Amino acid sequence: MSVVTRIAPSPTGDPHVGTAYVGLFNYVLARRHGGRFVLRLEDTDRQRYQPEAEARVLQMLEWLGLRADEGPGIGGSHGPYRQSERLEHYHAHAERLIDEGHAYRAFETPEELEAMRLEQRRLAHDPGYDGRGRNVPVAEQARRAAAGEAHVVRLRTPDEGDTAFHDLLRGEVRIPNAEIRDTVLLKSDGYPTYHLAVVVDDHLMGVTHVMRAEEWVTSTPIHVLLYRALGWELPTFVHLPLLRNPDANKTKISKRKMDTSVESYRAQGILSEALLNFLGTMGWSMPDGREIFSLDDMIAAFDPTRISLGGPVFDLKRLRHLNARYLRDVLSVEALAERVQPWLEERELRAADEDYLLDALDLVRPRAETLVELVDQLTPFLVERIAYDVDARRRLAAGQAYLEDLERAFAALEWFDDDDVDELLRSYVQRQAVPMGKVMMPLRVALTGTTQAPGVVDLVVVMGKDRTLDRIGQALQAISEGLPDDDPDRLKAEAEAAAKEEARAKRNRRPLNAAGRS
Ligand code: GLU
Repeated sequence: MSVVTRIAPSPTGDPHVGTAYVGLFNYVLARRHGGRFVLRLEDTDRQRYQPEAEARVLQMLEWLGLRADEGPGIGGSHGPYRQSERLEHYHAHAERLIDEGHAYRAFETPEELEAMRLEQRRLAHDPGYDGRGRNVPVAEQARRAAAGEAHVVRLRTPDEGDTAFHDLLRGEVRIPNAEIRDTVLLKSDGYPTYHLAVVVDDHLMGVTHVMRAEEWVTSTPIHVLLYRALGWELPTFVHLPLLRNPDANKTKISKRKMDTSVESYRAQGILSEALLNFLGTMGWSMPDGREIFSLDDMIAAFDPTRISLGGPVFDLKRLRHLNARYLRDVLSVEALAERVQPWLEERELRAADEDYLLDALDLVRPRAETLVELVDQLTPFLVERIAYDVDARRRLAAGQAYLEDLERAFAALEWFDDDDVDELLRSYVQRQAVPMGKVMMPLRVALTGTTQAPGVVDLVVVMGKDRTLDRIGQALQAISEGLPDDDPDRLKAEAEAAAKEEARAKRNRRPLNAAGRS
């Protein structure tokens, strides 16, 4: 059997990590069986529709490497792939359902429906449409519709009994029909509801596996009734577990508690491979239990029946840890260089030569968890002029004499390899009879402008003789130009700038949270 899977995001905002998660599993299942993976946009909620969201979904899939075989802007023989362009299909099927007695036009006004609700509340009856429009004769329905009277189309659902379906992970799921209540299929604006559109599209697009988030489990019986009414074969239903916050109650992940936009993870410097790997561990694991696996590994081993339902936790610490592993030892340093390139360009940084970049990357990569951290640590290697903050300048001043000696010693050193540099520094420190750090710290600051940097011997060796001498020279120059201790105005200005920056960062955080709450 050929497998066809799909994702059907609503273009209503920044693509959500949940969409990436569901996308990954659908992509993997289709690829595993040499099938098709379809992207469909469920854009029938015209109030929440955002035109730019479609491009964002495509960009997200592109970035993650989950390319759809069919979809808007991609093509395919089952299009169009935007539901707003498929209205004729929904209308035709609604007509068919009406003609065959499975659906009817209902003409209640919003006021009537509101009065019905109030009455139900007063009598303590279960809320929901009471089926009052069912018995309007078909000819009268047609006449009123033809006269332009506003109406919806409702599915005629059984009052008694249950509707059951088989979920690949949950087994039989059964819902009392009394809870379904003649669901609306077509709205008065002519747009379909999710239920009608999803069933018609999944069928017409040949979808064999409907794999989606758990929150749709309770809608599935409505879909099952529709499939039956239309005489169509059911697809395999797989409802993936919801991703959870790492809080005590393990609530469903939400914008309020954490970043849920895929774009924000990209912008933080999470690698697409690491995010996929991480999402691949949400309710699933490699049969051999290994933590690091590629998309291809997952495709080769994927078996949806091994998905576990025990509330996978979207733990940012684990994501960063995985990302660090990719930076440190999964990607080759050459591949890493390619990844950092756009980030370097953004900061207008260029390496003098490729080898220098690779050596520097190799040196800093064990210390970074994200690409942003990696580029931050790489920056001192690539800038021409080192900037020293107050603390750095103070440390330079404390080491002035050592820096002067080392400048001479390095200038005289012929071979700049690990052993020679190590020997030079070691014997120098010994002769000075001071603790190692007294000498190393000012040197580290001179070379990088920061106190947090890799081992000094490595730094010197990677930077090489010319650069090392140039940087020591810059440091000595900065010292001779006067230090912040002599210059209270500069100190004050720097403290004020730092406070301003802090306040700005705080302000920028706030609207994000506020937006999350809306
Ligand atoms: N538009 C729905 C969503 O965004 C699709 C649900 C489904 O896959 O059936 O989650």
